[in-house]
Amino acid sequence: MSTKLPRKMLGMKLPGGAKVQAVEVDVPQPGPGQVLLKMKAASLCGSDLKFIYFEHTDKTGGARYDDVIAGHEPSGQVVAVGEGVLDFQIGDRVVVYHIQGCGYCDECKKGFFINCQQPERRAYGWQRDGALAEYMVADASTCIHLPDFLTYEDGAMIACGFGTAYQGLLRAGVSGKDRVLVMGLGPVGQAVVIIAKALGAQTIGVDIAEERMEMARKIGADLVLKGDDSCVEEIMKATDGKGVEVAIDCSGSAVGRHRCLEAARMWGNVVFLGEQGTVTFEPSPLLLHKNLTLHGSWVTSVGNMERLVELLDRKKIHPSQIITHRFPLRDTDKAFEIFATGKTGKVCIDHEME
Ligand SMILES: [Zn+2]
Ligand SMILES: [Zn+2]
Repeated sequence: MSTKLPRKMLGMKLPGGAKVQAVEVDVPQPGPGQVLLKMKAASLCGSDLKFIYFEHTDKTGGARYDDVIAGHEPSGQVVAVGEGVLDFQIGDRVVVYHIQGCGYCDECKKGFFINCQQPERRAYGWQRDGALAEYMVADASTCIHLPDFLTYEDGAMIACGFGTAYQGLLRAGVSGKDRVLVMGLGPVGQAVVIIAKALGAQTIGVDIAEERMEMARKIGADLVLKGDDSCVEEIMKATDGKGVEVAIDCSGSAVGRHRCLEAARMWGNVVFLGEQGTVTFEPSPLLLHKNLTLHGSWVTSVGNMERLVELLDRKKIHPSQIITHRFPLRDTDKAFEIFATGKTGKVCIDHEME
C-alpha cells in the first residue's frame, strides 16, 4: 500500500576524511513491520563528527560505520506501510528512535535498543540507511507519533539529543525541588536546560564559549557562568554554600566532570552524559563523604522518548529553538563544514528547503 513514489532518490554518505558524498540510489521499500518515511528533517550530531565524518573509529560500542546513508536524527512522514504494521498509517508524522535492537534481549524488552549487544543491533545512519536522504525505511517499533504541535525539526531534535538529555534528568530524578547544574552548553546541554525547566527545576549553565553562554540565557537558564577557575565558587555562592542537588556533565571533559562532583551538594546526584575523555578524582572527599550518587547515562529508551514527546507537547515547548543553522539536503556538505567548526548550536537538514 503506497502513494505514487519516485524510483530514485538523493542520499548522503560519509566516506571519511571530512567528506560528504552525494549518491543516487533506489527509493527503498518497506518490509514487514516497517514504514517508508518521506524525510522532513534530520539534524547532525556530535557523534557523527567524532566517529564517522572525520575518520571511522569504533570507540563507543556500536560506533561501526557500514557505508550506508548517514543521519541518525530522523523525523518524517509515513508514505508507505509494510505488512503487519498496525499503529502507523500513510500521512502520520513520526520521530524515529535512532537504533533498532534485536527485540528479544533484556535491554530490548525494556525499550533500551541502544544497549542491545546482539549482532542484529543496527543504528540508522551507522549500520543501516539513515535520515540524510529523501526517503528512509524505519522499523515501526522505532517510530513515535509526533503530535501536531511539534514540528518535524522538533522531532529531529528529540530523536537523539533531547532524548539523551531527558534520560539524564530521569536518572537523577529531577523535579521542582532541584537546582540543576548543566556543565557544557552544547546541544545536549541546551536540551538539559530546557527540559529541566519544564520539570520545574532551576538551572545553572556553565560553558567557556560566549556563543553558547548567550544561547543558554536565551533559552531561559536561571544563571549562566563562565567555566573558569572561579565557577565552582560562584555556584556555591548561588546555592547558600551548599551546592546543587543535581549536576549534569555534558562537556565530556575531565575538568567539567570534576567540577560537577565539587559543586554537588551532600546526598546529591551527578550524571555523566558527555562522551569521551577521562577523569581522575579523589573518591573520599568528592564522592564518599558527600554521599553522592554518580550515574552514567547513554541515550534513552523508546518508551521514555515517547513520554518526552508527550511532555514537550503538553508544556508547549519547541526543541527546535536550539537550531542555529538550516540547510537543504543537497547542501549537506556545507552543513557538516560549518558544524565541524564547533561554534554552532544544532545544525539541521530541512528536507523541504530548496
Ligand atoms: Zn545524535
Ligand atoms: Zn536486543
